[in-house]
Amino acid sequence: MVMDPIPPVQPAAPSTTVITDPEVLAAYREDASSLMGAPDGLVRPTDPQEVAAALAHASGRGIPVTTCGLRSSTTGAGLAPRGWTLSTERMVGLVDLDRRNRTAIVQAGTVLRDFKDAVEAEGLFYPPDPTSERECAVGGTVACDASGARTYRYGATHRWVRGVEVALTDGTVTWMRRPRIDKDAAGYAALRDPVQLFCGSEGTLGVVTKVEVDLLPLPEAYLAGLAFFGDVQQALAFVGAAREQDRRGGGVRPRCLELLDGLALQIMGAQDSGVVMPAAAGAAVFFEEEHAHGAEGPVMEAWWTLLSMASGALPDDTVIASNRAEQEELRRLRHAVPATLNDEGRAFHAAGGRKISTDWAVPFAQLAPFMADCDRWLLEAGIGRVARYGHVGNGHPHYNLIVQDAAEAARAAAVVERMCQQACRLGGTVTAEHGVGKVKTGYLKYRFSPLQLATMKAVKRVFDPTGILAPGNIWAEE
Ligand SMILES: Cc1cc2nc3c(=O)[nH]c(=O)nc-3n(C[C@H](O)[C@H](O)[C@H](O)COP(=O)(O)OP(=O)(O)OC[C@H]3O[C@@H](n4cnc5c(N)ncnc54)[C@H](O)[C@@H]3O)c2cc1C
Repeated sequence: MVMDPIPPVQPAAPSTTVITDPEVLAAYREDASSLMGAPDGLVRPTDPQEVAAALAHASGRGIPVTTCGLRSSTTGAGLAPRGWTLSTERMVGLVDLDRRNRTAIVQAGTVLRDFKDAVEAEGLFYPPDPTSERECAVGGTVACDASGARTYRYGATHRWVRGVEVALTDGTVTWMRRPRIDKDAAGYAALRDPVQLFCGSEGTLGVVTKVEVDLLPLPEAYLAGLAFFGDVQQALAFVGAAREQDRRGGGVRPRCLELLDGLALQIMGAQDSGVVMPAAAGAAVFFEEEHAHGAEGPVMEAWWTLLSMASGALPDDTVIASNRAEQEELRRLRHAVPATLNDEGRAFHAAGGRKISTDWAVPFAQLAPFMADCDRWLLEAGIGRVARYGHVGNGHPHYNLIVQDAAEAARAAAVVERMCQQACRLGGTVTAEHGVGKVKTGYLKYRFSPLQLATMKAVKRVFDPTGILAPGNIWAEE
C-alpha cells in the first residue's frame, strides 16, 4: 500500500461556514458553458463529514446546493442558479493505492491528471482520458460519467468505478460498492449496483467525496498517429476499416480513433508546433495503439497497410509519434481545438453569440450518412463556422458551431435539436459524455420514454426528498 500525503483534516470547521464575499463568489459563476451561475454562498468542505453536515443543514432550511469540481462542464452543470455552491477543491489526494489488486481510492476534488500521474508513477493505468484531464476533478468525471479518446477501447468512467463514498442530504456519509459476484437475480437489474446511480448523476443525488477505481498495468508503450485525408467522409471510411480489422483481429488494434475536420486542422496548424498540417488535407484521423517495448514495427506496418488501401488518404504526410514528448505534443494540438473554439465563442457573448457544442452519438454504422445530413442542415440554416472533431470510433463526433449573434444562435439551436431527435431515432443518444446539465434538459424526451424519466425523478426524490440538490440539472426547473 502506498499512502500519499493526505491534506490535513482541519478541526471541524462549522460546515455552515458560508463565504458570501462577491469577489470570491465571482470565480464560481462561470464554467466552460456560456451560462452564468448566481450562487449566494460558497462552502468548501475539507472532509466528507463537513460535506454531509453542510448538506443536512441546507436540506433542513431548503437551501439549494450545487456541487462543483473544477467547473470544466460545458453544460453549466456545476453552476448554482441560487443557493450554495459546494466546491470539492479542498478534498484532494490519493488515499490508498493497492498495487496487488490494482485499485486506488482518491479524494473527489483531485485533478484527474494528478491522479493519473500518481498511479502511473507506480506502473499502473487509469484509462478514462477526457481531453480536459488537467482541468477537471475525479468527482466531476464520475458525476458526468466522462469519457475521452480512449473510450473506444476502454469504455467510459462508470466502467472503472468500483465504489463511491457519498455524503447525502440526511447528513450521513456512506460507501456504495459495486457487487463483485458473477451472478445476481435479486430485484431490478438496473438498480443492483448503486455505484452506477452516481455515475452521471450530475450532483443531483449527493456529493461524491471519495472514489475507488480499478486500474490496469501501465501499457509498456504506444504509438500515436495523425493520418490525413481529402475530406471527412474519406476519414470516416478509414475509421470504419480500422474498426472492422479490430473486430476481426489480425490487423490494427486501435485504442482511439478520432476525427479532426478541416477547421480543426486549421486551429491545430495555427499552434506553435513543429507538426505540419498538409494544405491538401480536409480531415485527419488521430489514432493510438499500444504495444510492447520495441515492438512498434509490426504496429506501424499494419497502419501503413491500412492507409495504403484507404481512399483519399495522404499517406506521405502521416505524422507518427512514438515517444512521450511527440505524443504529448499531438494531444496538446488536439486539445487546442475545443479550447480555441471556447475562446472564440466567448468573444461573441455580448452580441448573444457563443460556441454551441453537440455531444450526440449514434451507432457507428449510421454515422457517415447522419453526418452528411447534419452538414446539409447546418448549410441550409446558414451556420458558417463549424468544426467537427472527436470520438468517431464510438460514433461520437462533436460539432462545434460558432454563432455570432442571437439570431444565428436560434437557428443553430434548432438544427442541434433536430440532430438530437434524429440521433435518438437512429438508436443514439443526446449526450455521450458531457452530460445533460442545464442545456440539454429539453432533449431528454428524445432519449427516454416518459416511464424512464418518471423513474429517474423518483430515484432523485428518494436521495433528495427536499429537492435541494443541483436545481436545473438533468431536469429543467418547473
Ligand atoms: C476544453 C474541454 C474539453 C473537454 N473534453 C472532454 C472530454 O474529452 N470528455 C468528457 O467527458 N468531457 C470533456 N469535457 C467536459 C468536462 O471536462 C467534464 O464533464 C468533466 O467531467 C467535468 O469535471 P469538473 O470537475 O470540471 O466538474 P464540474 O464542471 O465542476 O461539474 C460537473 C458536474 O458534476 C457535478 N459534480 C462535480 N463534482 C461532484 C462530486 N464530487 N459529487 C457529485 N457531483 C459532482 C456537478 O454538480 C456538475 O453537475 C471538456 C471540457 C472542456 C472545457
